[in-house]
Amino acid sequence: MSNHYQKRRNAAHNSSKQLDNTNTLSPDNFQSISNKAEKEYCPVYKKCGGCQLQNLTYDEQLKFKQRKVEKLLKKHCKIEPIIGMKNPYHYRNKVQAAFYTNKSGKIISGVYQSGTHHVVGIDSCQIEDIIADKIIVAVRKLLPSFKMTTYNEDTGKGFLRHILVKRGFATNQIMLVLVTGSPVFPSKNNFVKAILKQFPDITTIVQNINPYRTNLVLGENQKILYGNGYIEDILCGCKFRISPKSFYQINPVQTEVLYGKAIEFANLRGNETVLDTYCGIGTIGIIAAKHGAGKVIGAELNGDAVRDAIVNAKANNLKNIRFFKADAGEFMQEVSSESEKPDIVFMDPPRAGSDQKFLNSLIKMSPKTVVYVSCNPDTLTRDLDYLVQNSNYKVQKIQPVDMFPHTAHVECVVLMSRSEE
Ligand code: SAH
Repeated sequence: MSNHYQKRRNAAHNSSKQLDNTNTLSPDNFQSISNKAEKEYCPVYKKCGGCQLQNLTYDEQLKFKQRKVEKLLKKHCKIEPIIGMKNPYHYRNKVQAAFYTNKSGKIISGVYQSGTHHVVGIDSCQIEDIIADKIIVAVRKLLPSFKMTTYNEDTGKGFLRHILVKRGFATNQIMLVLVTGSPVFPSKNNFVKAILKQFPDITTIVQNINPYRTNLVLGENQKILYGNGYIEDILCGCKFRISPKSFYQINPVQTEVLYGKAIEFANLRGNETVLDTYCGIGTIGIIAAKHGAGKVIGAELNGDAVRDAIVNAKANNLKNIRFFKADAGEFMQEVSSESEKPDIVFMDPPRAGSDQKFLNSLIKMSPKTVVYVSCNPDTLTRDLDYLVQNSNYKVQKIQPVDMFPHTAHVECVVLMSRSEE
């Protein structure tokens, strides 16, 4: 055994004590006390940068995340033990790949090196869906025979920019989105035939056109090349339609755990009026309606997601539910000045968290229960601080859920209600 490994082993013996004494939280801080052998790391873990916690065993990752949430949020209430995954691999149902042609003309597909636009070539990834990865490799191999070039970010020339694959794990419906720099796709019919021959399970193929010099993957316009332009998936017994540009949780196994906690915290008794804010395709509101909510109103900024949400309500035979395309803060402002007051507000903002317009309206509205689903504990603590300082809401429960194994991200569900005094 090398000295390096010996040191690692010795350090591991004291790991629990050292974990307790860890003052600054960084994955590197845990590195010296990790039980994970370097040979077990993903070969591109440093270059890719997507899985910041690859140097830790899964148990150590969960401890790291628990500690992170405790450090930021324990001032509000006790933190429940994080719920991890049984099998924390290949959980991503949405996979994106970037393309690059090197000097000798070889086409590479993979992910951007962390903080750069340099493509790190990968054919498979420990956290991505295996079928999605296979489709990406197959598309890459087909490109030369169809004379399809790859987009060059420096010159703005070339055709294929990205591929996006979304798969409904419960339905096995598969969507392939080809993001192109220009609308003209000369060999599209033959290309579609060739990829379907290899992957007959693909249910829809969409061309998304993104002609701009931008970091955004998807452009405004798209054309359906095959199928109906969306996929469906099933979560918590409800069916959901997902369009290329709509947000959908990327880890469906843990999403059921997350939503299950959100519904449990809401403690629906039947007939409550519920708001589902930042609702995406309406998942939380629809599941709440199935659990007895009397009336559900959802708000979401992305028009495609709102269209999906409206279809989803119908597909699940729900009549007591309406969705609005609106900024959540403005929507809350409007609802807070109406006479009918909601009983429960679900909020599930993006990483940036909510804003004061939203939070002030929430305070004015004063629902009995607020369930905050957050993918960023930093903005979560900021928003909870604001609510606690400016109202009589108290944080009652905080439940971390590991939605993104091997990455440093951690999701939390928070229950708040008004204190009695
Ligand atoms: N609750 C959904 C979506 C959560 S992701 C689910 O679990 O699937 C956050 C959502 O907020 C995204 O759909 C995003 O489009 C939306 N969003 C971002 N900013 C918003 C804003 N200012 N107002 C309303 N929705 C917003």
